[in-house]
Amino acid sequence: MKNEITRMCFVCRNTYNKTQMLRLVKASTGEIFIDKTGKANGRGAYICNNPKCIEQIKKQKVLNKAFKCEFPVSVYTKLCEELIDNNKQTKQD
Ligand SMILES: [Zn+2]
Repeated sequence: MKNEITRMCFVCRNTYNKTQMLRLVKASTGEIFIDKTGKANGRGAYICNNPKCIEQIKKQKVLNKAFKCEFPVSVYTKLCEELIDNNKQTKQD
């Protein structure tokens, strides 16, 4: 009797429980931020907490595809730092 909500990671395309994922939202300023409440307005995309996916964001510039626009490197750098930071804080196992 599980009522799990799953989402697809926009990097690796695997589905995970929503609670294990982070929601990224594009602000009207063009910046991407981590939506910790899950309720922020704007276009959102989910990413799992796999460090490889975080790496891929930067390497493959997957945000450009997911949000259908071009982001400067600075946006990627900042986001990846925040994601890695967030991972450290919520480390499981
Ligand atoms: Zn992933």
